[in-house]
Amino acid sequence: MTTHYDVVIIGSGAGGGTLARALAPTGRRILVVERGGDIVREAGNWNPAVVWVEQRYRAKERWLTPGGEFQPNIHYGVGGNTKFWGAVLYRLREEDFEATRHADGESPAWPIAYADLAPYYERAERLYYVHGEAGADPTDPPRGAFPHPPVPHTEGMRRAFERLHAGGWHPSPLPLGLIRPGEDGGCRLCGTCNSFPCMIGAKSDAETCGIAPARTRSNLHVATRTLATRLIADPTGRRVVAVEVDADGTRRRIHGDLFVAACGAVNSAALLLRSGDPARGGLANSSGLVGRHYMAHVTTMYSAFGWKDGNAGPHGFHKTIAINDYYRAADGCPHPLGHIQSQGALHPEMILGGAPERYRRGIAIVRSVAPWSFRYWTDRSMQWLAMTEDLPLRENRVTLRGDRICLSYRPSNMGAHRALNARVKAVLRACGAKTAFPVSFGLGNTTHQCGTLRFGHDPGASVLDPWCRAHDVDNLFVVDASFFPSSAAVNPGLTIAAQALRVADYIGAHHLGAEIEP
Ligand SMILES: Cc1cc2nc3c(=O)[nH]c(=O)nc-3n(C[C@H](O)[C@H](O)[C@H](O)COP(=O)(O)OP(=O)(O)OC[C@H]3O[C@@H](n4cnc5c(N)ncnc54)[C@H](O)[C@@H]3O)c2cc1C
Repeated sequence: MTTHYDVVIIGSGAGGGTLARALAPTGRRILVVERGGDIVREAGNWNPAVVWVEQRYRAKERWLTPGGEFQPNIHYGVGGNTKFWGAVLYRLREEDFEATRHADGESPAWPIAYADLAPYYERAERLYYVHGEAGADPTDPPRGAFPHPPVPHTEGMRRAFERLHAGGWHPSPLPLGLIRPGEDGGCRLCGTCNSFPCMIGAKSDAETCGIAPARTRSNLHVATRTLATRLIADPTGRRVVAVEVDADGTRRRIHGDLFVAACGAVNSAALLLRSGDPARGGLANSSGLVGRHYMAHVTTMYSAFGWKDGNAGPHGFHKTIAINDYYRAADGCPHPLGHIQSQGALHPEMILGGAPERYRRGIAIVRSVAPWSFRYWTDRSMQWLAMTEDLPLRENRVTLRGDRICLSYRPSNMGAHRALNARVKAVLRACGAKTAFPVSFGLGNTTHQCGTLRFGHDPGASVLDPWCRAHDVDNLFVVDASFFPSSAAVNPGLTIAAQALRVADYIGAHHLGAEIEP
């Protein structure tokens, strides 16, 4: 294999996979370095026992905390975490780009405005086959039509939607990235989508929509099962000359002109901390901010039980309703509260495998004594998520202890989250549930991790510039969720993909002398 490339992209998830797709047509020599393998299409993809109890696809590593350790909800493989996402693909709201006062503090302004990202959101929505209805959500930013119409509700969700309307809320169809839902040969709208890989390739993820088409070109290669251990800089520290990788226990260096970290917010920060000069706190760290301002969204999952209409259960596709009535200051609250969305189907195995670690023993006992109770519950419940903006606290950070990742994290903005939770039960009763039980995943919920290499204009207050290039290193970009200066309160994936497309344009124009196909 060649060991010198024009561009080396490390990681193949939402950021890396999208960037690879955009740069591949330039014809330049591009290598994608991916620590995981291809996610094999197999029956296990849709088997809840394989995905949730055996956890076949979940990373086995454990991260440290200041006082212990935990298993993060993270996946390593081609397509990264997008292979497992629910494909809810939101644009941030216009005000998410501005400084916003929250119940427990302020979230900072981004160095770009919504209008800067809007054309790239449009491209990302096309690339990821996003379905939705423009204008149905009162918080929608200015936008044109979605590339595809909204995904139809199941009968039960349609009735819930109508009841919410009648109750004075403004529900809207969730924007979803699915490939030909309901059509012959397309997405089957099954009950194994969110958290499951798609066995038929009909979920829009970074492998299906990014890496797979990019890989058909002979100028782009993907090195799987290849872990990037550190970036090697020249003596000035201003240029990366190589990435050191470990493949099957063999260490070697891959040289390149341009390097892009896309390992996810925690792993990209860890990669920079492991690189460069330890005396300078790693690479690209003159600000001292590498790894800081980790955010994750403050979330509570609700299992809403006893639906009037029946038609719940683990077989249908229930992830179609969004409620943004509390996204802005409203309902007597002077500050934003957050977002509510319906979730995918719940399977009995998910109750065991997905419960916070401290509850698993007790749940296993209930399961062995009364296995029917799990099915009774899943057949009569629907799942919902309440999500609040997490604020960027300087002390929430990724560090290394030896070679292991250590995550120090305290959720923020809890006043807003409690106020949102206080409203969720009423919402769920209004749309047809008898009662709703909350579950919080706390630290273990690393799914929406972001913010560890924030972008900004000021090199003293940010790690990356507004094009996601390291202030300190001329040929190093980062295109994963690390760049977020604030977390907003909607799902992050589309914003990561849109910014990767924006960075692709910049790299094309300024480093490759090539125009990127829109
Ligand atoms: C169960 C689940 C459901 C989700 N649902 C949604 C949703 O509905 N909507 C949404 O917007 N978001 C959702 N998310 C979050 C979304 O998947 C992430 O925000 C997104 O994938 C992050 O993109 P990324 O590029 O930052 O990192 P990732 O997608 O995580 O990609 C990082 C890649 O880098 C690789 N890597 C890491 N370290 C190294 C290394 N040292 N060397 C080589 N390779 C490395 C990893 O294997 C991975 O492929 C969900 C996540 C999960 C887990």
